[in-house]
Amino acid sequence: MTREHTPKLILILPCYNEADVLPVTAPLFLAKLRGLIADGRVTDASRILFVDDGSSDGTWDLIKGFAAEDPHFTGIRQSRNRGHQNAVLAGLMEAKDHCDITISLDCDGQDDIDAMDEMLDAYAAGSEIVYGVRNDRETDSFFKRFTAARFYKLMNRMGVESVYNHADYRLVSSRVLQAFADFQEVNIYLRGMFPLVGFPSTCVYYKRQERAAGRSHYPFSKMAGLAADGITSLSIRPIRIITALGFFVSLISLIGIIWILITHFTGHTVAGWASTTAIICFATGIQMLSLGIIGEYVGKIYLESKHRPRYIISERTEEKEE
Ligand code: UDP
Ligand code: MG
Repeated sequence: MTREHTPKLILILPCYNEADVLPVTAPLFLAKLRGLIADGRVTDASRILFVDDGSSDGTWDLIKGFAAEDPHFTGIRQSRNRGHQNAVLAGLMEAKDHCDITISLDCDGQDDIDAMDEMLDAYAAGSEIVYGVRNDRETDSFFKRFTAARFYKLMNRMGVESVYNHADYRLVSSRVLQAFADFQEVNIYLRGMFPLVGFPSTCVYYKRQERAAGRSHYPFSKMAGLAADGITSLSIRPIRIITALGFFVSLISLIGIIWILITHFTGHTVAGWASTTAIICFATGIQMLSLGIIGEYVGKIYLESKHRPRYIISERTEEKEE
């Protein structure tokens, strides 16, 4: 399938305390969009949508300034900081009825904007979702590279289908977004959810750059939190592992009981303190861990059952068109 029409594109840029970086990157995004418009790849109605994730620095004022300068710039502001995933979701939901395609990417210039050309090619050739995949991690520290590799391995092992080395640089058509809007969960992990929506998809490879300015908001602790959230939101494999562990411990206990009976009847009395204590410690440890993991899921059910809004937009640079 190839498409004939020129699509309207909305770029979605989540920003949290990015006042250092936006003056550098916003002109680059605008130049890129203008280039795409001039080449006839996207329509002139295409937009750059900044999603201010409740920043406490001058980010929102900057966004308002951009919007006043050029009509291609627009912005929405979340009522408070809700995290990167919710910011991207707010942007996607805002855009879904007003465009043909969206591309979400970091606003710090790390995601290579030139990969958009290939993404648009893939869309023109029929893909509805195009995953941006980084093909190197040279610019990252050894620690970030190592933890990131473990992150993807862990996610897959725990039953979360995700595209290796794909973060949130992604082209998504409005057709997919309409279907995605029915995924109503509050705990969201976008890169694991889009593969579940289906539709034809493909990958585009790019080289990730250094941050243009400012510093990362994703330290190891947040990344670990994202992994835990992703797993418990999308997979019940940890609970299955608990079940398997339960079987395993039962089996060992059975062998232990047989051993106890044999020693009892053969008259070898053992000094039983060490073995008893070891078994108690082992069993209690596993029980606590299992309860904790089950508790994670119960907590998630609790949070989901409230049906709280997933984002709240407090300000817009332009009136919402219906
Ligand atoms: N971000 C956000 N809300 C947050 C944290 C980050 O919207 O609570 C945005 C941030 O402005 C950036 C993107 O998410 O555009 C990725 O964050 P960052 O660059 O800090 O992470 P890294 O690229 O180092 O993983
Ligand atoms: Mg970044």
